[in-house]
Amino acid sequence: MEERNMVRVERVVEEFQTLVEIDSPSFGEREMGDYLTKRLVELGLEVSEDEAGKVLGGNCGNIYGKLEGSLKGAPLLFCVHMDTVEPASGKKAVIGEDGVIQSAGDTVLGADDLSGVSAILEALQVIKEENLPHRPIEVLFTVAEEVYCRGAALVDYTRLKAKEAYVLDLTGPVGLAAYKAPTFLFFKIEVTGKAAHAGFAPEKGIHAIAAAAEGIGKVKLGRIDEDTTVNIGLIEGGLATNIVPEKCIVKGEIRSYSMEKSNIEMLNIEKIFRSAANSYGAEIEVSTERMASAYETPLEHPVVKRFEKACEENKLTSVLEETFGGSDNNHLSQHGITGIVIASAMNQCHSTKEFTTVEELEKIASLTLSLMILTD
Ligand SMILES: [Zn+2]
Repeated sequence: MEERNMVRVERVVEEFQTLVEIDSPSFGEREMGDYLTKRLVELGLEVSEDEAGKVLGGNCGNIYGKLEGSLKGAPLLFCVHMDTVEPASGKKAVIGEDGVIQSAGDTVLGADDLSGVSAILEALQVIKEENLPHRPIEVLFTVAEEVYCRGAALVDYTRLKAKEAYVLDLTGPVGLAAYKAPTFLFFKIEVTGKAAHAGFAPEKGIHAIAAAAEGIGKVKLGRIDEDTTVNIGLIEGGLATNIVPEKCIVKGEIRSYSMEKSNIEMLNIEKIFRSAANSYGAEIEVSTERMASAYETPLEHPVVKRFEKACEENKLTSVLEETFGGSDNNHLSQHGITGIVIASAMNQCHSTKEFTTVEELEKIASLTLSLMILTD
């Protein structure tokens, strides 16, 4: 078992650079999808693509890869997303002498989530080259994760046999993993008043912005309790300075580890806005959308135990934590797949300061390989 470091670091970095140079914005993942399909086929996987792209108005679907196992054991799923946030076109991975990898400064790097992609490809490459015994492996490359996991919401589960998953999509040192994430509820409240000339006949108008403002002022924002946060992040309304505004649209989100609490909070917000609107003679229309559901993977579950063992083999400290962010794992968990989200060599994501390091890329590739070849 002392045959460590089968991962070839130059190759991981080179693969990562290649991936970064492929433009892959949400809904525009075609080139990335084609490249990854080609790579998976080269690595001996059976590959298919679903219709998610068509449904979402994108140009690429979720991609599924399957590799028969030479070890006994249930299949394991490795999931990453193919899309990157903007600014995302013309990305380049610049490697510093200190091993820090950044973009040229005008785009994101895309380590979120291409570091995870490069780790999976390297692990599969080593397995093939060294002819290593491994479990049945499934990979899932999703589209449109960065727009509230829309690709994952359309996964065709008939193509997946795995009941356990590792989602490589978390910030933090390799060895960190999230086992618990909240439910996300988005809401839109449309307040309708009545337009009138602001100078000639203000008393004929019903001020939608003022009614909405009263509602916003009365809703408790921020951290509601240890499980729940509420935010109103967008408002939009009015047409001109000389018109009493007829419409005001308020948008926000609720996050909670408890589905019930998120529902209660939503009802509460609706009640507050309705009463504020009524006091002005305005009306409201509320729409909500649950973008992801909460999950909590038990810490004694084999998927966690295996991760801890793989960390130990790689001399990494394993840390399991709660996260208040969402990922594709929120969706997998709703379909009978138990997983954790593991840190995959990405830092300061969603900014042009995003970076990874040569060392971390090697670590996540090596950890991924261990997860694929460990026997239970
Ligand atoms: Zn991500």
